[in-house]
Amino acid sequence: SAGPPGDAVQDVTLGVDEELRLEVEGKNQIVQVVMKDGTAEIFGTEMIKDTLYQFGTGAKIAVFTYHGCVLQIKGKADSVYVAKETPMIMYLNTHGALETLRRSADADGKRGPIVLVVGAQDVGKTTLCRIIINYAVRLGRRPIYVDLDVGQGSISVPGTIGAMLIERPASIEDNGFVQQAPLAYFLGHKSPQNNIPLYNTLISKLAEVVHERMESNRKAKSSGVIINTCGWVKADGYKSITHIAQAFEVDVVLVLDQERLYNDLSRDLPSFVKVVFLPKSGGVGDRSVSHRQEARDSRIREYFYGKPGLQPFHPHSFQVKLSEYKIFKIGAPAIPLSCLPLGMKGDETRTKLVAVVNPTAATLLHRLLAISFATDETQQDVIQTNVAGFVCVTDFDQDKGKMTVLSPQPGPLPKTLLLLSEIQFMDAQ
Ligand code: ATP
Ligand code: MN
Repeated sequence: SAGPPGDAVQDVTLGVDEELRLEVEGKNQIVQVVMKDGTAEIFGTEMIKDTLYQFGTGAKIAVFTYHGCVLQIKGKADSVYVAKETPMIMYLNTHGALETLRRSADADGKRGPIVLVVGAQDVGKTTLCRIIINYAVRLGRRPIYVDLDVGQGSISVPGTIGAMLIERPASIEDNGFVQQAPLAYFLGHKSPQNNIPLYNTLISKLAEVVHERMESNRKAKSSGVIINTCGWVKADGYKSITHIAQAFEVDVVLVLDQERLYNDLSRDLPSFVKVVFLPKSGGVGDRSVSHRQEARDSRIREYFYGKPGLQPFHPHSFQVKLSEYKIFKIGAPAIPLSCLPLGMKGDETRTKLVAVVNPTAATLLHRLLAISFATDETQQDVIQTNVAGFVCVTDFDQDKGKMTVLSPQPGPLPKTLLLLSEIQFMDAQ
């Protein structure tokens, strides 16, 4: 578990429109931040004066102030510096423009802005979503947050896309928005490129459900939607962005950092879509492949164990009998077009439901399994139905036909239809 913050204490005074950036690099380190005076926010969530905020290993944060503040930092923080140049005023103005659209949506009983945030990897897409959602919520709005980044899976676990209604600002310490049962759809891969037809199908379905939810909730309707994406912007990634824009009926696209992408989208999207270029923050650093993998692992670990030392969860481990469950995989391997039966398109095999019969340890061990809400076993129903949650297979006894699973909830599993993902998690607790 995490150690004490140690004795190092530093006071930092920030002027108007400045931000303090810091990282927590050391293993088992906790850094505490207290705002002693003034006003400040972390990615759009206001800090409360004289309140302790704790950050664990891997945290990379910025404390921004519009009016100036005094901060006290305890513990071993790394790369600590004050930045005078930030894009925050531009992000605030963007929020102001969205708010104008929401007000006229209120007046006309129409849908508020549906906003798509795009950009290459590591430009601050997720952070920008968080900031503008927080600003909206602070004004009493109830926007829907849609996360299409399967690699990070901030709404559920990596390998899923999902949506949730945001009713309160993101928790500063939890590193984002939290909800007990978000709407989640299962892709089962770390990257959309591993199954593009399925990714696009799920996006269309999620868009349909989000539109329905907006119609049934007046406040959500005029508050609009903020859609986060992954940094996949070239070739098929670009096509997928245009598919998202179409499926969600996006009104505004915020393009972070890349002028090329901004130009292409301005040219290719219908003229009623407003495409806006925004600079990235100098505080957003590049993450290596291994850092990304670590972030994915820690997201899954958090799903089961919470935050050790800060907010631990206590998952359950139990055996389940394979004969009582049906396990499916979505998508047969891609087959060359020339080998397909006449009239069948390659895409169709990629969204096919394939039963996993006589699974071996190699197929199941350490994999995440999604528990589907689907009630019948037709392909249509299963791929278009959201999932209840995930378990991880920690042991497999082929002779007894039993597997042991790690689960956030006590057994037995609430549903019997399970979906096998490509995503592995080594339970090292
Ligand atoms: P990805 O392509 O992986 O989805 P992204 O474009 O969504 O990345 P973010 O996740 O928003 O980028 O930001 C990357 C990291 O930079 C995060 O750890 C975030 O907390 C941090 N970060 C964002 N803005 C700042 C800032 N102003 N100062 C310091 N760190 C920041
Ligand atoms: Mn992101």
